[in-house]
Amino acid sequence: METRLRYKGKFIKKKVLEKKIKIRESAHKRITNKLENETESVKPNLIEGSRVVELTELGKNLKCCRCNDVLCLDNIIDEIRTGLHSILKVKCINCNAITRVSTGKSHVINNDNKCKHFDSTTGVVLGAIHAGYGCTGLNKIFACANIPTISPKLFKRYEREVGPAIEKSAHQSCEKAAKEERQLVNDNIEKLCAFL
Ligand SMILES: [Zn+2]
Repeated sequence: METRLRYKGKFIKKKVLEKKIKIRESAHKRITNKLENETESVKPNLIEGSRVVELTELGKNLKCCRCNDVLCLDNIIDEIRTGLHSILKVKCINCNAITRVSTGKSHVINNDNKCKHFDSTTGVVLGAIHAGYGCTGLNKIFACANIPTISPKLFKRYEREVGPAIEKSAHQSCEKAAKEERQLVNDNIEKLCAFL
């Protein structure tokens, strides 16, 4: 005689039981997947790649805000990036406090204390313009160097800061060249006249 199957204390047909087991398994799978995804989303920001940092500034800032102990870059739990500059959230192994560590200096622009630019980004944008690169060209270099890229909007903001300085420098350079040319003509006027 065939053994009668039971499910939660009641007799049940084999087909129905198999269906119920299937439903339970798929529900379990869904919950497991959901939990895995949630664990993934709460993972701290993984700090990867290269950064442009001011070594002396970074070294100076790597101190715990609570116990003043020296912080270790192995204990970065998050990073807030603005252009090439980063604020690293570093956990102290001594007191567990989280310190915000700046990777470089900043400066105010247009004498407006509310508007700060970071030195590293200003320098790189100035260099890019000087070399004839725009945001796309600069980002290609960053991508090859494994440095996070910057947005065109941010590039434009820094371009507005360095633009007047470039214009001034170009104007001074033109004036200097014109002055040198005048001087050369004056110095060699006799020789030049001999050719006429
Ligand atoms: Zn500490």
